[in-house]
Amino acid sequence: MSFQSFHVRRKDREVTDLKEMQQVLKTAQYVTVAMCMDDEPYLVSLSHGYDEAKNCIYFHCASEGKKLVYQKTNNKVWGQAVLDFGFTDECDYVYTSVHFSGKMHLVSDISEKQHGIEVLIRQLSLDPNKKLAQIKPERLEKTTVGRIDIECLTCKKGAPKPERLKELNYVIRGKPVANAE
Ligand SMILES: Cc1cc2nc3c(=O)[nH]c(=O)nc-3n(C[C@H](O)[C@H](O)[C@H](O)COP(=O)(O)OP(=O)(O)OC[C@H]3O[C@@H](n4cnc5c(N)ncnc54)[C@H](O)[C@@H]3O)c2cc1C
Repeated sequence: MSFQSFHVRRKDREVTDLKEMQQVLKTAQYVTVAMCMDDEPYLVSLSHGYDEAKNCIYFHCASEGKKLVYQKTNNKVWGQAVLDFGFTDECDYVYTSVHFSGKMHLVSDISEKQHGIEVLIRQLSLDPNKKLAQIKPERLEKTTVGRIDIECLTCKKGAPKPERLKELNYVIRGKPVANAE
């Protein structure tokens, strides 16, 4: 059975609007990525930046390690980004999450590395311009930057009551989450 055969079962919670899905990827603080090599699963969480124009995720990591061994053997990944609004008094867990499938690549082109790190810093840093000014080209050359090209996205909004989300007034790093309004 292929991935295309599966759909979010709870139609009342399914989000199909691309902009809304992209907002989750742009706002989440990290993604969790599942990998597989020789029938052995593995999983890592990665601080990321989502590039809307290229529909891809950038991350950085050490130059060696298990995830890179997996990536070389099989670069297909499955991932998740979550906006976690927590547990409510009504015993609901309020979240919006995106699942994606894609392929993980290592970036070797220096100008793309610069771009990827900029996307990452603009998403995660409280003072991106200061952080970006500190990046030295020689350091960038030694930095391992990865890219996940997204092929498919699904989204589930686990927010049964919109008014409850408004009450929570969810804010990430000083930025209100549009999705929660
Ligand atoms: C919120 C969050 C954000 C993160 N952001 C990044 C990021 O941007 N870039 C990045 O490279 N990493 C990030 N990490 C760490 C990442 O999830 C991996 O743990 C790390 O990248 C090591 O990956 P590796 O495959 O190279 O492991 P290796 O160092 O090769 O380790 C291999 C073995 O160590 C164990 N192991 C590795 N990591 C962990 C762990 N976190 N907890 C328990 N056991 C572990 C596993 O058993 C694994 O088999 C983040 C983690 C969290 C929780």
